[in-house]
Amino acid sequence: MTATANPGHRIYQGRVSLDWHKKREHWGGGRRRPCRFCHRPSFLLDDDRRPVHKVCLERALTASLDTKTERWAA
Ligand SMILES: [Zn+2]
Repeated sequence: MTATANPGHRIYQGRVSLDWHKKREHWGGGRRRPCRFCHRPSFLLDDDRRPVHKVCLERALTASLDTKTERWAA
């Protein structure tokens, strides 16, 4: 099990699920800035304070997990 590597997210049904409910640092203060994945306005920030949608970041993290899994399987 490697799911404890980052306490900020967990794996749910094979996908990354971010737990931002109690994390005020992910709230961008009500200003909308372009998401770094889809470039549409978002209120949220990732761990590096860059604007993202939670779903976009979850999708990217899930994709990176898939890449790692393939590497392990090879
Ligand atoms: Zn987005």
